[in-house]
Amino acid sequence: MKIVTKISEIKEIISNFKKNKKEINLIPTMGNIHPGHLSLLSEANKFDGINIVSIFVNPAQFNDVDDFNNYPNTFEVDMELLSKTNCKIIFVPSKEAIYPEGIKSEKTVFKYRGILCDLFRLGHFDGVTTIVKILLDLIQPSKLFFGEKDFQQLKIIEQLIFQNNLKINLIKCPSIRDSNGMSLSSRYSTFSKDEKLKFEKCAKIINSNVLNMKKNFNLNIFQSIEKELRTFGISKIDYIEVRNEEDLNFSIINERSRLFIAFYINKVRVIDNFLLY
Ligand code: AMP
Repeated sequence: MKIVTKISEIKEIISNFKKNKKEINLIPTMGNIHPGHLSLLSEANKFDGINIVSIFVNPAQFNDVDDFNNYPNTFEVDMELLSKTNCKIIFVPSKEAIYPEGIKSEKTVFKYRGILCDLFRLGHFDGVTTIVKILLDLIQPSKLFFGEKDFQQLKIIEQLIFQNNLKINLIKCPSIRDSNGMSLSSRYSTFSKDEKLKFEKCAKIINSNVLNMKKNFNLNIFQSIEKELRTFGISKIDYIEVRNEEDLNFSIINERSRLFIAFYINKVRVIDNFLLY
């Protein structure tokens, strides 16, 4: 496993792979590697090709400076975990390498916008599409692996690939969940003991309501989740919505639908989505 930080070096490596007709699987991450990230690598192993994991905490996608500054950095442990996988290259560029002219982002994808996280994290998805396009141009993968945990992100990346006419196969990977039923996330590694307990309780509320909704679709269930979370002391809830997974429009049926939720436990934003079929 090789750790690459320089743009010139990754360009040379990619050019050699291309000369040798090697296919590339790219797994972009922001580090603090957990089993969710590792599942993307396992998915990549099902295909031919060289696995490249990128680790870059992209300043352009953080709309909150504290969130950026507090983002967990566990580089040594990440390397240890990745060294046990079939990851050949870890690309860990500096922000100066990625943004030589200063941090900036551009709005290029307009589909799937103005809803869900885009309403609450202004500019976030512009930062995401900007960095993903930079990585795609540099690494030229034939397969790109993204998690369904960040479902709106996945749809926006799909659109980015489509708009740019890229010959990239986007592989959508299911969420890896904790025993409490919630998707794993790097952000939760900063939970205090109290916050963890709160999270467990929220997980119970959400999962039991999702179960009810699967059995008997009922729009009152949103109110029930919201009421139970608020009663329990969760005051900041960005959204609880059911949407169709094809077009992200509102849905009033279980079929092809997911419950999307985003709320805060103190400063940590929890986002998740749950299949309703
Ligand atoms: P992040 O490092 O949080 O930006 O995530 C990097 C990639 O891993 C994204 O495609 C995420 O959707 C995916 N990912 C994060 N958490 C999980 C999870 N619990 N299960 C599956 N994929 C995940």
